[in-house]
Amino acid sequence: MKILVVNAGSSSLKYQLFDSTDFSVLAKGLCECIGISGGAIKHSLACGKSLTRSVDLPTHATAMKLLCEILVSDDYGCIADMSEIGAIGHRFVHGGSYFSGSTLLTDEVLKITDKCGELAPLHTSAHMQGIAGCNEVMPGVPQVLVFDTAFHQTIPQKAYMYPIPYALYEEHQIRRYGFHGTSHLYVSEEMAKVLGGAQGTKIVTCHLGNGSSISAVKDGKSIDTSMGFTPLSGIEMGTRCGDIDPAIVAFIMQKKNISADKITDYMNKNCGFLGISETSSDMREIFAEIQNGGPKAEQCQLAVDILGYQIKKYIGSYSAAMGGVDAIVFTAGIGENTPKIRELACEGLEYLGVKFDKEANDATFSSGGMQALTTADSKVKVYMIPTNEELIIARDTYEIVKG
Ligand code: ADP
Repeated sequence: MKILVVNAGSSSLKYQLFDSTDFSVLAKGLCECIGISGGAIKHSLACGKSLTRSVDLPTHATAMKLLCEILVSDDYGCIADMSEIGAIGHRFVHGGSYFSGSTLLTDEVLKITDKCGELAPLHTSAHMQGIAGCNEVMPGVPQVLVFDTAFHQTIPQKAYMYPIPYALYEEHQIRRYGFHGTSHLYVSEEMAKVLGGAQGTKIVTCHLGNGSSISAVKDGKSIDTSMGFTPLSGIEMGTRCGDIDPAIVAFIMQKKNISADKITDYMNKNCGFLGISETSSDMREIFAEIQNGGPKAEQCQLAVDILGYQIKKYIGSYSAAMGGVDAIVFTAGIGENTPKIRELACEGLEYLGVKFDKEANDATFSSGGMQALTTADSKVKVYMIPTNEELIIARDTYEIVKG
């Protein structure tokens, strides 16, 4: 059976087609600028053959239709007939407290996801459009929802509750949910294999991309994570502020005359590396400015230093929360490809039992695959593990539909 993994955003649709016999990727790609001008599809096959085509994509259903045509085409296809696709797995950002695992999409489930929509309206409506597109173009094919929040449903109440009036939790479900769950699950599982199984292990997983989160994974279960009610909290990110004094929000609203409906957008888009560096939200451009000694080099260095320091603090606090740490994992765009950030986060952790291997770290990028960044005698292992969220979605989908 082939499994189509779909990640629908408001104006984009990423996809990967897996073969369930060995979970190899047959094809992958991206439909972009859906519903706006500049529509295009970028598609590639496992053999490396690729296609980029500009095409108007008014809806997610049009994108799905085009994608299906390409998948069975002579030139860029990899299946003979669409009936080979036995299931579709959707990335679904918010499952609220309702879903602690992946689930088959049914009418009942659809009603519950409506409630999740209150917690993440933009993401949920984008996912719904992806689902509608699949219903229209591939009717009858089972669909599975895989939630970013599900892995974190094991977090205990003392870690997921905020010290605000309890009624807000009861009436509005205000609590920590956590995100990037499929990524934290994947890399912690891979790390646990190295450690000889998840039972008895204490792992800190650092997912560092445009959005970043850090999790404490004990016995294979998430017991705490840095993102919260929304993906705005935790460490400094590309354009998101992460944890700040909540009083700053009202203060900025007053000083800059920003209304309540605009302030969350401001904290999501104007802060983080971009806000501090006044240069870019992209770590590669931040390092380029530092290297070139440009006018904003000092602010860029500050953005880097803040990130390294905050990761280190999370490693320390999660080690305390778990009563120790066996391994620290770095993943996602920055975690996989930026040795300097990993070094800053790990320097000074000798007291924990980390013997960092600077040479190995400097030579490690995602293209080389999983890599140890500590010496063989290091009590605490540090690893770079490329994440693979789509694989988790494909596996879960197959497990649920195989019967
Ligand atoms: P997203 O959260 O959007 O999935 P990514 O995981 O792709 O983001 O991470 C994006 C960040 O990773 C950017 O700051 C980018 O500079 C950095 N990054 C991605 N690839 C590389 C690379 N090959 N070398 C250095 N940095 C990279």
